[in-house]
Amino acid sequence: MKHKEIIAVYPGSFDPPTNGHIDIIGRAAKLFPKVIVAITHNYNKKHMFTLEERLSMMKEAVSKMKNVKVASFSGLLVDYLNKIDSFCIVRGLRALSDFEYEFQMALMNRKLKKDVETVFLMPEQEYTFLSSSMVREIASLGGNFKNFVPNNVYKKIKDKRKN
Ligand code: ADP
Repeated sequence: MKHKEIIAVYPGSFDPPTNGHIDIIGRAAKLFPKVIVAITHNYNKKHMFTLEERLSMMKEAVSKMKNVKVASFSGLLVDYLNKIDSFCIVRGLRALSDFEYEFQMALMNRKLKKDVETVFLMPEQEYTFLSSSMVREIASLGGNFKNFVPNNVYKKIKDKRKN
């Protein structure tokens, strides 16, 4: 069987991007020739940052990784995969608590698209407790979250809180 170059898609809301996300993207970029960070455009979800803001924060945060592109999509992930001719999803696994949801989603995506594979990557241990919602919470309560997010994201959150 001839293998074509795999395009790995890392989907998420990234509201905001954290160092845990960047850790996973770095690992995926070593494994796959091309990685697309696909930011979800979900009208039903209440976001801290608009899609445009999340796109620009993520683009800046991964600008040094040459085989990583940042894009957005709305609708079903499997439809997006078909559109860009990919069959590979990357997700991050932090702890057992992520497992059940991720397992269910991986199997559901496989029901929706037969050839899809979901690859789980584990971040550095120090990021296993980190989530976007935790960062939003700490920021809104005035705590120090500098070590949890890329520098450009830190500045953006600080600016947002001033306005
Ligand atoms: P979603 O809204 O799809 O859950 P997130 O933006 O919260 O998206 O996360 C996207 C992916 O990154 C998910 O697979 C999630 O488990 C993973 N992830 C989130 N935070 C971390 C972290 N600190 N370390 C590793 N993976 C993470």
